[in-house]
Parts: sequence; structure tokens; C-alpha cells
Amino acid sequence: MTDAAFDRDHLWHPYTNVMAPGPTYVVESAEGAWLTLDDGTRMIDAMSSWWCTIHGHRHPAISRAMHEQIDRLPHVMFGGLTHGPAIELGRRLVAMTPEGLEHVFYCDSGSVAVEVAMKMAVQHQLAAGRPGRVRFATPRGGYHGDTWKAMSVCDPVNGMHHLFEGALNIQYFAPRPPVAMGDDWPEDDEANGIAALSRLLHEHGDQIAGLILEPLVQGAGGMRFYHPEYLRRARELCDELGILLIFDEIATGFGRVGEMFAADLAGVAPDIMCLGKALTGGHLSFAAVMASGEVARMIGSGTPGLFMHGPTFMGNPLACAAACASLDLLADGTWRDHVAAIAEQMGEELAPARDLPGVAEVRVLGAIAVIEMEHEVSADAAHPISRETGVWLRPFGRNIYAMPPFVLTSGEVSQVCAAMIRLAGEL
Ligand code: PLP
Repeated sequence: MTDAAFDRDHLWHPYTNVMAPGPTYVVESAEGAWLTLDDGTRMIDAMSSWWCTIHGHRHPAISRAMHEQIDRLPHVMFGGLTHGPAIELGRRLVAMTPEGLEHVFYCDSGSVAVEVAMKMAVQHQLAAGRPGRVRFATPRGGYHGDTWKAMSVCDPVNGMHHLFEGALNIQYFAPRPPVAMGDDWPEDDEANGIAALSRLLHEHGDQIAGLILEPLVQGAGGMRFYHPEYLRRARELCDELGILLIFDEIATGFGRVGEMFAADLAGVAPDIMCLGKALTGGHLSFAAVMASGEVARMIGSGTPGLFMHGPTFMGNPLACAAACASLDLLADGTWRDHVAAIAEQMGEELAPARDLPGVAEVRVLGAIAVIEMEHEVSADAAHPISRETGVWLRPFGRNIYAMPPFVLTSGEVSQVCAAMIRLAGEL
């Protein structure tokens, strides 16, 4: 049995039917922006392997840091012990994330980071003498991961988890933020979505521990970019009602939107912030939850004072070393120019797609480009075209999108845009 045949018959891939899998290609190696398949086909990884590999694959500086770390201390338990890479990474995260976020909790994946953030919010409220606050508010159209609590705050209707509806906690959903980024912000709160959010939070505030949202970009829930004023107003409402504001920056963090964090772009600091994906430059699964001094103090002053979470691989030294190396690569700020250049070029080169039949909208923010179609697009149907164009794209829902590594050359950006336009024309 060939490797590909074994894979087809035995391995589950994300969101696939193991009894009727679509085409799956065997990746032999990767370097920079490029993937090489087992038959020698080369493709630009325009997805950054699900939005992680911001510096490209197998970046020599990250590989080197990981090699050095693996020879010294690949893993050690974090209970009662600590190590240099965790401390160094923590220092940097505290310094670079929005003001007030002073405490770091390391965990294994984005979904787990969301679980941790939600547990923090509940413990905070308990310690604050508000034990009834165990639920969460969130706008429709969000995506926060595949674990149980994370699923409960994903879009309940159009999201990926409606099958589990009966088994999920009941949360409170506000309408999707209605004003797109770049549009004028209407002063009328009914029109800008704040009135509905405010009603929800006021009505159920005594049960709500936190408001969780993806700042500025609703990613897997539809690749929509919304107005920063929504976040500013959400911050005010949370302050008024003692609700914690939780930003899920797992997709937006580390430069993707053109600023280090979407929070910076919006000028809003949350109480808790989830980081993942590009944290290690996409070299290892790793995540971190940043909490404000106030949240940490409140949890610490409660009973039992302990924060009740502690994964086996918490603070894994190898992942911390990879993350430090990735942050080193961001430190000189040149990524800003790269992301700005990618944004400008994708904006120009994708503009003609607006005139194609079936295209609803074209939008670009930082290193995120979306051609939204009027109909659903099949990822499986896109794959053979990816091989032909030499650009790996995996559309979902109605969106043909790219979230490429920041290291693309201008020629590679053109190749990605041409491939997206071809998909829009053919699918
Ligand atoms: N939150 C957001 C905004 C995401 O985009 C994702 C993944 O796409 C997650 C959470 C879940 O992260 P992970 O897949 O690492 O569990």
C-alpha cells in the first residue's frame, strides 16, 4: 500500500469524511514559502499552513534555536520548575502585548488557550464575589476552536459545531458586528451594533463572566473585517458591567493585520488575550494566554487562589525557544514593510476579481486577502488547480483567501493573486 493510499484509508484529516476523503497530497519537505510534494511538485503555501508560518517554513534561525534547545532541554515539567526559554519568552510577551497584560499562562494550542481564558474569567468572577457569572457573550460569526468551551462560543448556526448544539453550554450571542472596517461608523447605535450588544450584556450581565471575540477579523467564521470602534465601545460596556473583555488573537496576532496585534490597530487593551498559531513562527503547536494584573490578583486572592489548569506540556522549552526565535525575527520591525507591501500588491492585483461573475466582494487587510463568492466553494475542487498554479489555497465556505507568509517576494505575491483569481473564475 502506498503512503498516499494508507493515508486515504486510515487517517482522519481536519473536517473530512474518513470514508470519502478528498484529494490529499503528500508533502515531502518545505522551505521558506514553498512546499515540495512527493512527486516533486512545488507550491507556494499561501495559507501559511493555517496562518502560522509567518517567516516561512523551516526558518534557519528558528531551526537553529530548536536544535540548540533539543540538545539542552527538550522538555521538563513546569510545576515547581522553570527554565530560561519560558522566562525569556514571558519577558517579551509582557513587553510587547497591550499595556496591563502582565501575566502569562502557556498552553498547547489555540483551542486550549481559549479554554484557559474562559476558566480565568470564571475564576475571576468567583473571586470577585459573583459566582453566578459562568457564561459568556460573543458576537455571531466567531470561531474560537474545537474544544468544548471554545465550541460553545463559535457561531451557533453557520459555524462548524451545530451538530453538538445540545451538548454545549448556553452562551449569549450578539449580532455579528455589522460595520465593516473602512466603512463610516454610524453614530446610531442601532445601526452600528452597539445597541444590541449593550442590551444583551445589560440583560444577562449577572450571568456573564466575559465577552470573547476575535478583534477586527472574524476568521474561520467568514473572514470578515469589522470596525475598530466596535471594540472601543465593547471595552466601555465591559468596564461598566464588570465583564472581562477577552481578545482571541490566535489568528490575528504577530503582525498578520499589519500591526503586531489587532488590539494595537484598534487601540484597545483587553483583560485577557489568547495567542497561538504564529507564536512559534508555526514551527510547533504552542499558545499563551495573557492576563491583566487585575485578573491575576483577583484569582490569586480568591479561594483557593490557585488557577486551576496545568497541562503536561505547559511551558515546553522547545516551543518557548522556537517562539523566542520567531519573536527575534519580528524584533527589527521589517515585517511591517513586508506586510504593508503584500497588502498593497494584493489589493491592486485582486481588484479585477470584483468584475468576475459570482464574486461578492474582494477585501484585503494586512497579509489577509479574501475573494468572497456568492456561493459555497469546494476546497477539494480547488486542490488540483493548486497543483497546476503552484499555489496552495484551501478555500472554505464562500471564501477564496490567502494568508501567506510575510516573506513572499513580489513575484510570488503575483502568483498567489493570479491563482486566487483563477479559482474565483473556475469554482
Ligand atoms: N481561535 C481562532 C481565532 C482561530 O482562528 C483558531 C484556529 O483557527 C483557534 C482559536 C483554535 O486554534 P487551534 O486550532 O490551534 O486549536
